[in-house]
Amino acid sequence: MGKITTITGPMFSGKTTELLRLKSREEVAKRHSFVFKPKLDNRYDEKSIVNHNGIKEEAIVVNSPLEILKNVEEYLSSQRSKEIPLVNIFIDEVQFFTSDIIDVILEVSKKGINVFTCGLNQTFEGKPFPFKDKKEHIGTLMALSDFLIHLDAVCNHCGETATKTYRLGESKETVVLGGTDSYQARCTKCFRK
Ligand SMILES: [Zn+2]
Repeated sequence: MGKITTITGPMFSGKTTELLRLKSREEVAKRHSFVFKPKLDNRYDEKSIVNHNGIKEEAIVVNSPLEILKNVEEYLSSQRSKEIPLVNIFIDEVQFFTSDIIDVILEVSKKGINVFTCGLNQTFEGKPFPFKDKKEHIGTLMALSDFLIHLDAVCNHCGETATKTYRLGESKETVVLGGTDSYQARCTKCFRK
């Protein structure tokens, strides 16, 4: 069985940076990985994962969790996989997939492949972040993970430890893409204010 590692936390907590760090460790160890990201997020670069510091990693852009499974299965049935076995997959911005991402992650891990994911812990309203179809949320994935990395950020208002994402503006939509222009990391006290 592969191990499932979930990295979570508010915006600006370095989730993608941590995902890329773990990926580069695997590279040093010469273990082959695939990197996936959902189609939705094109804030910085369509085909790369980019953290807020601009560090890049090529990614396979997919529309659905099943496409991840398809990519993995295709590779496993290829000749190349006998020479270079697939050891890990990395999934950025996991919260932007539908809930069947959970089944896909479990399925991939059953094939003996480690799965590393990162995603937001809470919505701008302080609720567990739901997957796109709202059937499951990030908490379910956290509970099913073998390892959890919970990152925090620095409160934009007071400098305390921040675990929440505060959104500037009036929109009530759960998903509004943006960076520092639309979001702040906040501690619980400043979040409630
Ligand atoms: Zn604060």
